[in-house]
Amino acid sequence: MNMYPPVDTEEIMNCIKCNIKIPPKRLEILPGTKTCVNCSTESPKRGVTVMRGSGDHTWVDLEVLTQEQFEAFEKLEKEKSKKNKGLDKLTD
Ligand SMILES: [Zn+2]
Repeated sequence: MNMYPPVDTEEIMNCIKCNIKIPPKRLEILPGTKTCVNCSTESPKRGVTVMRGSGDHTWVDLEVLTQEQFEAFEKLEKEKSKKNKGLDKLTD
C-alpha cells in the first residue's frame, strides 16, 4: 500500500484559468494546485533554481513560485538535503 504515488508520475494538469499545462514540479511542490504560476497572483513571486533530470542528464531550471510555494519548496529541499548530503549545494 503506497501512501504517495511515485515521484516520476507525470500527471497532466491544466490551469483552470488559462488551460496551459501546469509544470510537474509545481504539482510536486503544491499538490492539488489548479492554476499555473502566471494565474496565481495572490502572493508575491519568488524565483528558485531547481535541478531537473537525473544521472548524467541534469540541468538547472528557474521556477517561479509564490511566497507560499517558495516556503513549501524550501521545506521540501531541506528534507531532501537531509537524505542526500551534498546535493544541497547548487552553486554553478
Ligand atoms: Zn494559468
